[in-house]
Amino acid sequence: MRPVASGRLLDPSRRPRRHRADARSARGVTPAQRRALDAICDTFAPGSVELGVPEQVLDLARLNPSVEERDLRLLLSLFALRRFARLPAARREAVLRAWCDSRLAMRRAAFHGLRKGALLAFYSHSDVQERIGYPGPLGAPATARPSRIQTTPAADLDCDICVVGSGAGGGVAAAVLAQAGLDVVVLEAGPAVTEADFVGDELEAYRRLYWGAAAATTEDGGIGLLAGECLGGTTTVNWTTSFHTPGAVRAEWGGPFPSDDFTRSLDTVAERSGVNTDHNVPSTRDEIMRRGLDVLGWHVAPMPRNVRGCDQDGVCGYCGFGCQLGAKQSTLVTWLEDAHAAGARIVVDTRAERVVSESGRARGVDAVTKNGASIAIRARAVVVACGAVQTPALLLRSRLANANVGRHLHLHPVTGMSALFDEEVRPWTGTIQALYSDEHADLENGYGLKYETGPIHPGVLVGFLPWRSAEDSAALLADLPRSSGIGLLLRDRGSGQVRLARNGRLRVRYRLADDDARRLRVGIDGAARILEAAGARRIYSSHARKLFYEPGNGRRERFLADVDREGFAPGRCAIFSFHHMGSARLGASSGDSACNWDGETWDIKGLYVMDGSSFPSASGVNPMLTIEAIAHLNASRLAAELA
Ligand SMILES: Cc1cc2nc3c(=O)[nH]c(=O)nc-3n(C[C@H](O)[C@H](O)[C@H](O)COP(=O)(O)OP(=O)(O)OC[C@H]3O[C@@H](n4cnc5c(N)ncnc54)[C@H](O)[C@@H]3O)c2cc1C
Repeated sequence: MRPVASGRLLDPSRRPRRHRADARSARGVTPAQRRALDAICDTFAPGSVELGVPEQVLDLARLNPSVEERDLRLLLSLFALRRFARLPAARREAVLRAWCDSRLAMRRAAFHGLRKGALLAFYSHSDVQERIGYPGPLGAPATARPSRIQTTPAADLDCDICVVGSGAGGGVAAAVLAQAGLDVVVLEAGPAVTEADFVGDELEAYRRLYWGAAAATTEDGGIGLLAGECLGGTTTVNWTTSFHTPGAVRAEWGGPFPSDDFTRSLDTVAERSGVNTDHNVPSTRDEIMRRGLDVLGWHVAPMPRNVRGCDQDGVCGYCGFGCQLGAKQSTLVTWLEDAHAAGARIVVDTRAERVVSESGRARGVDAVTKNGASIAIRARAVVVACGAVQTPALLLRSRLANANVGRHLHLHPVTGMSALFDEEVRPWTGTIQALYSDEHADLENGYGLKYETGPIHPGVLVGFLPWRSAEDSAALLADLPRSSGIGLLLRDRGSGQVRLARNGRLRVRYRLADDDARRLRVGIDGAARILEAAGARRIYSSHARKLFYEPGNGRRERFLADVDREGFAPGRCAIFSFHHMGSARLGASSGDSACNWDGETWDIKGLYVMDGSSFPSASGVNPMLTIEAIAHLNASRLAAELA
């Protein structure tokens, strides 16, 4: 038998014969495929099958828009064909390592997809969490404010303006338009949520509140794409960091951005969103980062945050699963409440399929509820605010022809450096982000990176750390309570594209540009220095081959040589994007933008984009406030036009 690693990922000559549908289990896999999956999960983490991890992996795959079920079945068939389940454990581990280290990007992508699914599910079980010293979910909040938003049942509706998406852009646009006296309908694909739903269960939060169960990736699997999918959009699950758009970026973008009008919009959204620097008690993670930065004499500053009454302690580290205190001033508890109070109707669990237009003018939106019912919203104008991945997909489904739709997708690629300390860190707890460093924010003409920490729950650690064997992986996870980390948030100069595949599925193409990779490498060195100066015992990059060093003479240099050897090709180093931008960008001409400066598409009158897609390029700072300000400015202009 040829070992799996030496065959092609999906070698057509080796494809198994089609199995009859009735040979499949309820989850759509055959018994042989299921045995292969069981063996894969048990190889990643022994004991998985007993815990029901394979079922959970299938469930996550079903929710993941980047996974075609057919490809998953073929992959499992390949493992089944090679009798993977019958191999001894050491051979199975060797096979998985070979997939991880493969020269073929698709094999590496398959490995990481299976690895992340299996380990995320495994570490969601309470006895496993207990073993690694993680306390698990918070549980229901003692008191939860009832929602002030009464949603409207999905049905055919008439209105002045249909706003698609309820996140940073859509929430603000809906409030501004409704407060101007316009009849607004908000369509949101995700569910209505309240503080009572935010129980701090990591896996459940990904499944219920995130797009694609937080498992979506670029098409080569190289970059994880994270976004919220619930009322309030990503602002419901984000980390409260609230930077104003930097002056240099505003000048670079031109158009309305350097204007006083935009300044006023920025100030207005910051005020309504409660942005302040009074909630910055550093977590141990942030204390460690500050310690290192202070030793090096590098820049460090308090994080501006959109919170009121934040406990900055035990609950705050779970903020990425929704703030159960209601302290985070997401659009859920600010702009959407304002919109609702001003008469906007808010329809949830309903996905816009396409914008309807007649004679070049937007007339409404066709949408489908989660139960499969079709509804039509008729409107005088449509505001699309689905986020920079889904907005261009909706525009493409609506047959916009402008070549810039979907192009110029910018990310803030994030990789992490983690480190083991002697002290107890409990990195899942404490203020979610209290400090940042701009030491390397401007490495070249305004392009560089930010250093920020973030809460580390088991699934987050799984996302960044390597898997070389079950034993090694278990040991790394067991270090969680004494682990800390620093995220490097890169302002990219390169860009990617959102497109629709022939079967209509959304695809994101993005490759890290060489000079972006070079700057990321500066950040890896920088974060290693910070962690070293803070007293780390062992420091890891997020490379799949497990690169680490224990500080000592010349060791960082040798580690960096390993980093250079491994590089950043897809699947070689864990990279995620929390910020997606620019895929329907604003500009002065249809030749280089998808929308004019007011956010109106060049193709269809009365169709506007007001979200992260609007950015002319990457903002270089966490983008929520900039998105809200764009929506505020352009919704105000639209309101003046329509009122
Ligand atoms: C974990 C995490 C932490 C973050 N932390 C920060 C932070 O601290 N500070 C910061 O500035 N930024 C942060 N961000 C990013 C920031 O929250 C987003 O950039 C911002 O919310 C994007 O705004 P948006 O309006 O473009 O899209 P979103 O806020 O994502 O809203 C889009 C909404 O549209 C809905 N939608 C999509 N498609 C459809 C459709 N077809 N029909 C109907 N509805 C649809 C989605 O469900 C979603 O609710 C974070 C992101 C993540 C993932």
